[in-house]
Amino acid sequence: MSKDKFAQVRLISKPENMLKTIYTACRTCYSADSPLNIYDCDSAQDEEKMLKLINKVVSSGHYSTIEHIQVSFAISNISRACSHQLVRHRHMSFSQKSQRYVKEKGQFEYLTPDTIENNPELKQKFDEFMGKISEFYLELTENGIPAEDARAVLPNAASTSMVASLNLRELIHLANLRLCTRAQKEIRILVKRMCDALVEEEPWLKAYLVPKCERWGFCDEDKSCGRMPVRG
Ligand SMILES: Cc1cc2nc3c(=O)[nH]c(=O)nc-3n(C[C@H](O)[C@H](O)[C@H](O)COP(=O)(O)OP(=O)(O)OC[C@H]3O[C@@H](n4cnc5c(N)ncnc54)[C@H](O)[C@@H]3O)c2cc1C
Repeated sequence: MSKDKFAQVRLISKPENMLKTIYTACRTCYSADSPLNIYDCDSAQDEEKMLKLINKVVSSGHYSTIEHIQVSFAISNISRACSHQLVRHRHMSFSQKSQRYVKEKGQFEYLTPDTIENNPELKQKFDEFMGKISEFYLELTENGIPAEDARAVLPNAASTSMVASLNLRELIHLANLRLCTRAQKEIRILVKRMCDALVEEEPWLKAYLVPKCERWGFCDEDKSCGRMPVRG
């Protein structure tokens, strides 16, 4: 996978007052005061104070408070294999480039996994094979087969793009699962870029957007990478 081209990610939408919104949600649960007063109060100007409460509430598993935060990413140049893994996350929303409506006009774009990229002989065969698929795809469409049926021959390596949105609870869950070294490299890179884009604007989230072992202090995988002690 060419590192510069692969998995282009941009955070295109996030709430302006993320911290204040979560803080208001957290305090509303424990305060006689109204959410509106909490939102306008002095402590909702104090980042340290807000973070102290938020960290306490979230680390005790009170996750509804972070579901109020919705973020959206523009994602390009990932493989269909990777997008298929991403769409397994059921609390996410997707708008993905359609292989029904967008007909390939020449060689379709595809992603080559590093293990193949690093083997020149196999890489050459891989590229030739993609070329043959493309030729057959074009033969099908030129003979009147609609793109929605011709796509049956396109591979998992075919490139795709999408807008993906999710709330903060789901993003933390996604990061915990897909930053784990047991996840495939491509989705690991993609999710890391999504997390980095958000952390750049909300640095306090860095501690949450980590592999699950870093949150729990242990590993629950059968084949552990050894980074953390395995759960007994
Ligand atoms: C390393 C790795 C390997 C994998 N290998 C395979 C594989 O071989 N085959 C395969 O099919 N999948 C595989 N998956 C996908 C995996 O099984 C999950 O479908 C995917 O990770 C989404 O996780 P999730 O269900 O926890 O999360 P989400 O769908 O994002 O849901 C988040 C959480 O919401 C709750 N939730 C959502 N929907 C329901 C529901 N219907 N009922 C109850 N609770 C719900 C659960 O608590 C869930 O954890 C793999 C995933 C990883 C990370």
